[in-house]
Amino acid sequence: MSIAIQGIGVSSGIRTAIGKVLMLSRGSIQAEPGMIPANRIEAEVERFFHAVQLAATQLTEIRKEIPADTPADILEFIDTHLLMLQDKAIAEAPAQTIRDEGCSAEWALQLRRDQLLRVFEDMEDAYLRTRKDDLEHVVNRIMGILQGQKRNDPAEIVGHIIVSEDLTPADTIMLHHRGACGFITDFGSPMSHTAILAASLGIPAIVGAHGASSHLHSGELVVVDAANGTVLADCEPRQIRFFERRLHREQERRNALQTLRDTPAITRDGVHIELQANIELPEDVKAVLEEGGDGIGLYRTEFLYMNRDQLPTEEEHYQAYVRVIQGMAGRPVTIRTLDLGADKQCEHQPEPAACINPALGLRAIRLCLKETSIFRVQIRAILRAAQHGPVRLMIPMLTNLWEARQAREIIEEERQYLAQQNIVMNQPLPIGAMIETPAAALTAESFARMFDFLSIGTNDLIQYTLAVDRADDSVNHLYDPLHPAVLALIQKVLEAGRRSGKDVAMCGEMAGNPRYTALLLGLGLKTLSMHPASLPEVKQLIRRLDLRQLKPRLEKLLLDPAVEDFAQAMEELASD
Ligand code: PEP
Ligand code: MG
Repeated sequence: MSIAIQGIGVSSGIRTAIGKVLMLSRGSIQAEPGMIPANRIEAEVERFFHAVQLAATQLTEIRKEIPADTPADILEFIDTHLLMLQDKAIAEAPAQTIRDEGCSAEWALQLRRDQLLRVFEDMEDAYLRTRKDDLEHVVNRIMGILQGQKRNDPAEIVGHIIVSEDLTPADTIMLHHRGACGFITDFGSPMSHTAILAASLGIPAIVGAHGASSHLHSGELVVVDAANGTVLADCEPRQIRFFERRLHREQERRNALQTLRDTPAITRDGVHIELQANIELPEDVKAVLEEGGDGIGLYRTEFLYMNRDQLPTEEEHYQAYVRVIQGMAGRPVTIRTLDLGADKQCEHQPEPAACINPALGLRAIRLCLKETSIFRVQIRAILRAAQHGPVRLMIPMLTNLWEARQAREIIEEERQYLAQQNIVMNQPLPIGAMIETPAAALTAESFARMFDFLSIGTNDLIQYTLAVDRADDSVNHLYDPLHPAVLALIQKVLEAGRRSGKDVAMCGEMAGNPRYTALLLGLGLKTLSMHPASLPEVKQLIRRLDLRQLKPRLEKLLLDPAVEDFAQAMEELASD
């Protein structure tokens, strides 16, 4: 009989994953100091060489098994590890330490690793410093063999389902790059940035699956059923066949929806809806184009800061933006200034999560206005990149008008600085405000007057309105996009946009959930930005709606105090 572990499903498009478990264990394997009697030293040296040899054989085997269409960077990192295994500093120096100190192979290896890590840390070159992760992986592999352990192995990630207590957004990106096909975490909620990222990368995930990491074990076959938020282990062959068929149908359905790619999102009564995409990395542009996105409504640039131990340079920002702009070939690109903080942390963040409540702490524009040098680097890069296409700049987490003013002043100063350097913008750079705090929503009209456009970030707006931590699965049941207070704030922002003649978009998860499409259009939204994979389904729904009929009925519904189940009533309204 199969075992089911319940959690919360996260997916966009494909909701099923079948694969073997890979437990993610972080950190390096530690060894205890151990001495070896003189007559066993050479045997210990042999044991060490044997472990290095076995590590290389394992990696070579893994490399052979990797499918031909695997992205080149996965192969590259295995090759790097293989080269490191041939390096004398790792493959031979510990043998000398065993002989000189009379210590165990594990201890000699650990001494060597710590020494090398210090060298890596002192390196000027940012790229070489990032190699220290590779060093850790390689040493962990040898250490694991010496200690007879079966440890998490990054080279084996391809096609596996990652199980961990929790994952950071940085882990998620790294695991995606290395070919993971599903995620299961004990903690986390569907609105955490990790979950949003998994959905955006098209990886089905189950978050808040309490106990998963202690009940499941590496190598066993599991099914991720993100549609029902269930992890299934110990499945009967016929259950596996069922899910394989379901996965196949999901893939077919996605392919069928893709025939809508070049069809505009127009309602039956002729209203054109701009369907844009949210991206995290320049590589995501490919998916946006494949799914027929009209532009990028949210480029979460903070991911440029992750998985590295130095801040990105202006040139690195610029290159990333130009890649996106050129990739989108004339379609609008909305670059959001960095939103680090809360559940998005990175190694070199000026003030990491020391604050008591990170979601209410130094996050996004607050961090940028405190660490203005970091902000200015990004602003210059955006201004320079804006010469290559229709770019819009967007500022997250505003609560006060003075923050908006200060941010705009900095942008202006940087524009003047660049002009002095003869870098002149040849097209206007519209600047927008994200409305994602209740304070900003309630004063949206002032923000609308000061900015060229507004974009509603429902993920945070809901979190802050309902006092529900978006990353905490224990309060996930209270996270309600249809709460009357949330709907009232959305209406308030749309009203502010109408009065001031400014566009209002929505880029939170709510925008890409087909359950809310009719509601959002009925409320008056005309620009929605979502995971690329959600675009076709939302487009299909839009093409079935008639806003002339929908709007008056929705208005009545919103005012009707007798409606107990608004979600149900809304669903009926949309399906009529
Ligand atoms: C939001 O808060 O709705 C949003 C789009 O921003 P993020 O999810 O990156 O916080
Ligand atoms: Mg937000």
